Amino acid sequence: MLRLLIVVAVVVGLVLWFLKGRRIGAPPGGRGGAPGQANAKPAPMVACAHCGVHLPRPDASFDAEGRSYCGEAHRVAGPR
Ligand SMILES: [Zn+2]
Repeated sequence: MLRLLIVVAVVVGLVLWFLKGRRIGAPPGGRGGAPGQANAKPAPMVACAHCGVHLPRPDASFDAEGRSYCGEAHRVAGPR
């Protein structure tokens, strides 16, 4: 049983290492960043229409009019 857990842990570790290596090896955009910098390209920032907090665009929620929000609660609350 312990041996099975060790094998599973090693396989999960190898898969995570492989996925991480692929992401670093093929950076999106190709701006020629230094090797090892996985996130050389910063995500564009948007402001929440309700509370004004700034957050990366991929993390934001958007309403039908295209306004950005920091989360589902503020999207439902609407702009202030
Ligand atoms: Zn907000």
